[in-house]
Amino acid sequence: MYDCIILGAGPAGLSAALYAARGGLSTLIIERGVTGGQIAQTSEIANYPGQALTDESGVSLTERMLAQAKSFGKKKKRDTILSVELSGEVKRIIGKKGEYEAKTVIICTGARPRLIGCKNEEAFIGHGISFCATCDGAFYRGKDVYVVGGGDSAVEEAIFLTNFARSVTVIHRRDELRAVKAAQDRAFSSQKISFMWNTTVEEVKGDDLLRSITVKNTKTGETRELHADGENENIGLFVYVGLIPNTELFDGQLNTENGYIVTDEDMHTNVEGVFAAGDVRKKTLRQVITAAADGAIAATEAIKYRA
Ligand code: NAP
Repeated sequence: MYDCIILGAGPAGLSAALYAARGGLSTLIIERGVTGGQIAQTSEIANYPGQALTDESGVSLTERMLAQAKSFGKKKKRDTILSVELSGEVKRIIGKKGEYEAKTVIICTGARPRLIGCKNEEAFIGHGISFCATCDGAFYRGKDVYVVGGGDSAVEEAIFLTNFARSVTVIHRRDELRAVKAAQDRAFSSQKISFMWNTTVEEVKGDDLLRSITVKNTKTGETRELHADGENENIGLFVYVGLIPNTELFDGQLNTENGYIVTDEDMHTNVEGVFAAGDVRKKTLRQVITAAADGAIAATEAIKYRA
C-alpha cells in the first residue's frame, strides 16, 4: 500500500512525485509510455522560468526532473492502467502488469493529439502524417512539409521544421492564428514559412508514402490538391489541431467538463483523496510551468489528506 500513486510522468506527475516523496509519502509513479509526456516530443523549451540552457529539449528537462524526484525516494513503474476504483478509502489501480493500492491518487495523465478527421488520415499515420516534428522532422530534409493548426504547437513546430524542410506551409481553418504573439512574429518573418488561410484538409493520398493533400477553402468551397514539387517526391503533414484529455479511465467516477477533470484550485477532484494536475485538468493555461505548479499543489494536498 502506497501513500500516494501518481498516474503519468509528464511535468505534472514528476513535480507531484518530487513534492510527495520529499514530503515523506511512499510514492509510486506509473507511466505507460515515455517519461516526459507531451514535452518528450518538444524540441525546444523556451518559456520555463530560469531555463536558459542551450539546446534544452523536453527530454533533457524531464530527465533532470525524474532524477531529482528519484533522489527523494520515489519509485517508478511502467504499466498500462486498465481500470481504477477511486471511491473507497483505499484506492485500487489495476494495470496490465499488476494491481496497486494507495491512500491517495494524483491523476496526471495529460492529453493526446487530436486527429484532423480527414479521409485516409489513419492509413498515413507514420507514413507521411506525424504528430511529432522533433521525432520525424529529419525525414523531410529538403522536402515540402505542411502543418495543420493555428495554435502554439502548430506555429512552434512549423518554425522547428524549417531546420529540415525546403518549405513549410501552415494550413489553418481561420485567417488568424491563436498562437502566442512571439511565436507568430517568428513564423511570419521566416522565409521558409507560408500560410494557407481559411483552409481545411479534406483528404490525403499516396502509396506507401504521402504524395498529395486535398484542401478546401472554407470561404469559397473550392478544393485543390497539393503535391510535392517534383516527380516521385513525398511530402509531410504535421498535425497540431489540439488535444484530447486522457480521462476515459475515470468515466463515471470523476466530474469532467469537455472531457477534462474538474478540480478546485487546490487540485481536489470530487472524490476524497483523488487529485488531478496538469493538462488533464480543466484550466486555461496548459504549459510546463502550470503543470509543474499543479503537481506541487496536488502533492501538498495529498500530504495533508494522509496526515
Ligand atoms: P490549441 O491551442 O487547442 O490549438 C489547436 C489549433 O488547431 C487551433 O488553431 C484550432 O483552430 C485548430 N483546429 C482544431 N480542430 C481542428 C480541425 N479539426 N481541423 C483543423 N484545425 C483545427 O492546441 P495546441 O496548439 O496543440 O496547444 C495545446 C495547449 O498547449 C494550448 O493550451 C497551448 O497554449 C499549449 N502549448 C503551449 C506551448 C508553449 O507555451 N510554448 C507550446 C505548445 C502548446 P481555431 O484557432 O480556429 O480554433
